Amino acid sequence: MAESFDIAIVGAGITGCAIARQLARYENSICVIEAGNDVALGASKANGGLVHAGYDPAPGTVKAQVNARGCELYSQWSNELGFLFNRTGSMVLGFSADDHAALERLMQNGRANGVPELEIVGPEHIRHLEPRANEQATCALWCPSTGYVDPFDVAIACAENATANGVTFLREAPVQAIDTLLGNAPLPVGSRRLSDQPERFAIHTPKGTVRCRILVNAAGNGAALISHMAGAEEFKLAWRQGNIAVLDKEPRALMPLYPVPTPISKGVIVTGTVHGNTVITATAALREPGDRDTYAADVETLLNGARKLVPDLDTRRVVRTFAGGRAVIEGLNDFMIGPSAVLPGMFHAAGIQSPGVASAPAIAERMDRVLHDTGLDLEKRPDWNPMRRAPEDFDRSSPQHQAELIEHDPAWGRIVCRCETVPEAEIVQAIHRSPGAVSVEGVKRRCRAGMGRCQSGFCQSRVVHILARELGCEPSAVPLEDRGSWIVDGTLKEGR
Ligand SMILES: Cc1cc2nc3c(=O)[nH]c(=O)nc-3n(C[C@H](O)[C@H](O)[C@H](O)COP(=O)(O)OP(=O)(O)OC[C@H]3O[C@@H](n4cnc5c(N)ncnc54)[C@H](O)[C@@H]3O)c2cc1C
Repeated sequence: MAESFDIAIVGAGITGCAIARQLARYENSICVIEAGNDVALGASKANGGLVHAGYDPAPGTVKAQVNARGCELYSQWSNELGFLFNRTGSMVLGFSADDHAALERLMQNGRANGVPELEIVGPEHIRHLEPRANEQATCALWCPSTGYVDPFDVAIACAENATANGVTFLREAPVQAIDTLLGNAPLPVGSRRLSDQPERFAIHTPKGTVRCRILVNAAGNGAALISHMAGAEEFKLAWRQGNIAVLDKEPRALMPLYPVPTPISKGVIVTGTVHGNTVITATAALREPGDRDTYAADVETLLNGARKLVPDLDTRRVVRTFAGGRAVIEGLNDFMIGPSAVLPGMFHAAGIQSPGVASAPAIAERMDRVLHDTGLDLEKRPDWNPMRRAPEDFDRSSPQHQAELIEHDPAWGRIVCRCETVPEAEIVQAIHRSPGAVSVEGVKRRCRAGMGRCQSGFCQSRVVHILARELGCEPSAVPLEDRGSWIVDGTLKEGR
């Protein structure tokens, strides 16, 4: 069975979801096609969540442009979409005259990229800005515009807002083949309304065929394959793997502290999170595509790097380590955003290695502009709503609001995750959002059940039980993450 849309976006990572949110403002039908059973399953769930300011990409690169602009847009996007964003500022710490010279170069780079208010500060100012920064640091690049987010929260918020504005999300639909229906026929000049254009692509998935006029390739580590399937550019993606460690919550979240960067990496960074944890991010090593293992040597590199920036950091408080892979286009240290040079109607947002989180709103904005630049007439929807009402967050609510919620429904008072204070009603809400959670990890990313210091030791079976009840399936059919990652064999005590 084939369904037709004006625009199909392949990949529901932060890039695809941000583009869907941006393009949903036009009178066009849009489908996001995702291989996994949820949004933000690729690199978008396995990163440091830093909204880097944009002082390190080489001036003139696409990366430099979208990084600085993306960082700027985050205030607006977080207001509209209701996700948490802390613009705390950051420091790159230097310990020598050589480091000072490197910071000067970084500052010039940042100014060329349009990053505002960069300044090199001395020891007294460093201590004032972040009292826990290494007191051996003699200089620092102070950058007030840096911030951090929960990256999957951003992707989910974009997906929910896109859905509310009419976008369809097709999940568990890995693209297996793409037919080009018009070959290399150029986009016609004349009637440029997108909906008047002929269909150009038939995208085959196990969930059926999606036909579309415009195809946006935002498939992360699968982007080279999508381009190849469509007969567009041939390129190779390397998997630049990174390990990350999450520490328990601190009374006060740390300001992001960076070392002086290397040519390929920002180095090991220590940062607070929007929920008060500390994150040490990230190593960078070329590994086999798909390798999400954590390595003892990498974790050692993380802890040593972190101690150099924050000597009093209690690295025994690590609650979780994980890994992800940056999709790096071989031979191009840049993002590829724009129309295919060989296949009319196809647009790439590929090679979004890092900083794809920081850049996402600007990548979406750029994709919007690029579509207009081809001469397509995209009509604004009069009823487009940029606002998303964030779900209730019991733990962050006032005692009065908590009491009102419990009064309304006692399930708000049944705490399932004790570490993060997540009640049953909040889990039910996460399952019934659109697109909603269908796995234990999907619940965790939406409302933090299982995200705390016990890492779901106490609440996992209850979350499985609630998912099975709400989705109308057996507990044994509830996956930890993707289809096949079953965790229960039989019945649950509570479910009997
Ligand atoms: C360790 C690490 C730390 C990082 N830290 C930061 C940071 O602090 N700040 C920052 O800005 N950036 C950071 N990044 C980079 C950031 O995570 C990525 O740039 C960003 O997540 C890329 O998002 P994406 O949507 O392009 O790709 P992805 O999130 O990988 O999404 C691509 C999606 O496409 C889907 N897909 C692939 N093939 C197919 C197919 N055939 N059919 C259908 N769907 C398909 C996948 O399932 C996936 O969901 C980090 C990355 C790593 C690995």
